[in-house]
Amino acid sequence: MTKYTYADIIIDISHEKVDRTFQYRIPEELAGEIYVGVRVKVPFGNGNAARSGFVVGLSNTPEFDTERMKEIAGVVTGSISVQSQLIQLAWWMRKTYGSTMNQALKTVLPVKQKMKPKEKKSIRCLLEKEELRDAIAEAEKKNYKARLRLLKALDETPVIPSEVAEAQLQITAATLKPMIEKEQVEILTREVYRTPFKSLTHTGAAASLNEEQKEAAGRFLTEYDAGLRSTYLLYGITGSGKTEVYMELMDHVLNQGRQVILLIPEIALTYQTVMRFYSRFGDRIAIINSRLSAGERYDQWERAAKGEVSVMIGPRSALFTPFQDLGLIIIDEEHEGAYKSETMPRYHARDVAQKRAELCSASLVLGSATPSMEAYTRAVSGEYRLLALKNRAVSGSALSQVDVVDLRKEMAEGNKSMFSRRLVQLIEDRLMKKEQIMLFINRRGYSNFISCRSCGEAVKCPHCDVSLTLHKNNRLVCHYCGYSVPLMKLCPSCGSPYIAGFGAGTQKLQELTQNAFPQARILRMDADTTARKGGHEEILAAFSAHEADILIGTQMIVKGHDFGNVTLVGIMAADLSLNTPDYRCSERTFQLLTQAAGRAGRGSLSGNVVIQTYQPEHYAIVTAAEQNYEEFYRQEMVYRRMMSYPPACFMQAVLFSANSERQLELCSGLALAAVEAMGYTEKEVQIIGPVRAPVYKVNDIYRKILYIKSKNCDILDKIRCNIETLAAGDERFKTLSLQFDVS
Ligand code: ADP
Ligand code: ZN
Ligand code: ZN
Repeated sequence: MTKYTYADIIIDISHEKVDRTFQYRIPEELAGEIYVGVRVKVPFGNGNAARSGFVVGLSNTPEFDTERMKEIAGVVTGSISVQSQLIQLAWWMRKTYGSTMNQALKTVLPVKQKMKPKEKKSIRCLLEKEELRDAIAEAEKKNYKARLRLLKALDETPVIPSEVAEAQLQITAATLKPMIEKEQVEILTREVYRTPFKSLTHTGAAASLNEEQKEAAGRFLTEYDAGLRSTYLLYGITGSGKTEVYMELMDHVLNQGRQVILLIPEIALTYQTVMRFYSRFGDRIAIINSRLSAGERYDQWERAAKGEVSVMIGPRSALFTPFQDLGLIIIDEEHEGAYKSETMPRYHARDVAQKRAELCSASLVLGSATPSMEAYTRAVSGEYRLLALKNRAVSGSALSQVDVVDLRKEMAEGNKSMFSRRLVQLIEDRLMKKEQIMLFINRRGYSNFISCRSCGEAVKCPHCDVSLTLHKNNRLVCHYCGYSVPLMKLCPSCGSPYIAGFGAGTQKLQELTQNAFPQARILRMDADTTARKGGHEEILAAFSAHEADILIGTQMIVKGHDFGNVTLVGIMAADLSLNTPDYRCSERTFQLLTQAAGRAGRGSLSGNVVIQTYQPEHYAIVTAAEQNYEEFYRQEMVYRRMMSYPPACFMQAVLFSANSERQLELCSGLALAAVEAMGYTEKEVQIIGPVRAPVYKVNDIYRKILYIKSKNCDILDKIRCNIETLAAGDERFKTLSLQFDVS
């Protein structure tokens, strides 16, 4: 172990500026007891009053005059606090992801902001069934949308936590006021809050587990009670009842007086899902989402720290909830891209969760129908323990029948429309049977891009290196920076009048669908229609209430929504996501297709899936159509091994961005030279680039990436340190931004 002479200490951990650190000398006799995260006593300020603080950094370089530097007085003994653990976690993140300690601390510690404490409240319906029906009809007639959402929700569950109504249903005080005046609802405060949920607890939520579920849960629980802590991969096909298994595990851990963190991707954190957990666990639950302000988040974390709640549900950042005795972390839809942070530290929730679980002796459960290549590889190698659910939970709901349609053949046989003949036939059938349909397209906007048929140039954003997207209001919009211009009549490059849109987006698809099936009622869900607060829930609620026959959408519609009446899913162009410049594109395509296919036939009705594609022989499409994850995994691993891509290898991406191309060339070249000078063999280290980022220019900033691959991640750590040192000591790197991304 390295011996350090100086320690950086934070005195007030909940202070707004976590970067306020003070350097102290480590006295000889304490040398063995000082580590990052430990709580220490120090003399502070002019009067040298005794204060306690946390060690957040260690070094051998004094930052100021050592004559004036004070010494650490002692170590605070006793149990390791959750703050200590979180600081240790930050330290690990700093090392693993190559960020500064400040960036890591800011990610891990909540920011304090003055907020008046919010009471836990809930909304209770005071109307009888008949009256409620009338109120719903009235709200419908008057088009009171928020009120309607609430009334419909109350029709399902007569008591709803205020925080769920606010976050998931977008209900405001202004909506509630007239409803309270009319005595339609009342607000329950903390005291009476506990009781109503008790009565809800067993309203069908705690389904008795089927054999497969019992076996999966049983294996975990036996090992948990034997004191074994590990990482589990719960690999269960869509609809196999993973959520029920999570709840069983949570229940067990909560009964031992420990706490649980449950991560759900934001897009799947719907009212439906949230209420499933509420009806089982009542007010022990708190929820965070990315729309919360820093103050509101701090508030939720305080409640967790004080023990007022014992389950935290939320996206990535919920991982840092300061529970005192965390016993279990669950990551649902483990394969989701949203678990990866795109700002420094660029961490993956899966790995940080594993580290946090290790620090506090908790277990980690990852769940997915389409596990990431990383997770499944670790499960196969025995690093994770594999739990599998191979059948749908509700008997009779079989997997859907999948047809793959070759769009080239359709065209050759004279069908020029976006809809294959098979899809048309099935849509007509379902419209007649009054069953519902989802059409999925992996794009947004009216039409993908505009290009010139004379010179072939696409119209690009002047600030970013991407094509502009044409929207229905006849404006071209940049989806990276927001830049927009009216659609021009002549090609900006050659002046030709033959410029036109290619491909089709959700808006265009909606139009074409409406033309092809004039009798159909159509809803569309994409980034445009859900931009407004609550838009997302509104569309889902309307579709769920069968206010439309067809739901058209992007990725958003395939995430974990349960519509019993949907019996047909059409994937308009499966290969759109296969042609992106990213080694994960087959994996993403497979996941998307499998998840989309899993939407059909969730209820008692059996379902059909039609996958339209130009590459029907591509293994991602073939295996998705067969719903054969293992085969996809096998073929994809062959590719990853051949190309030395993760998880067959570790990969360190170094991202350079600068507003001068010359500086970018120079610095990325210097970094490359520094790596090459380290003298690794080609077998140990493979270097690609520096190459231009897939989108080279964003907001007038140019970006290049250096990829370094190795089977040995220690080598990659050393290389990263070397580049960091180079950049810190060279003037020319001053105005260049350097980021690291390991995978
Ligand atoms: P997953 O998360 O794996 O997609 P869910 O947990 O959402 O699956 O379960 C799918 C459906 O099956 C839900 O409607 C759920 O209520 C139901 N279900 C799950 N387990 C059982 C069970 N043991 N008995 C009855 N219904 C169940
Ligand atoms: Zn042109
Ligand atoms: Zn732009």
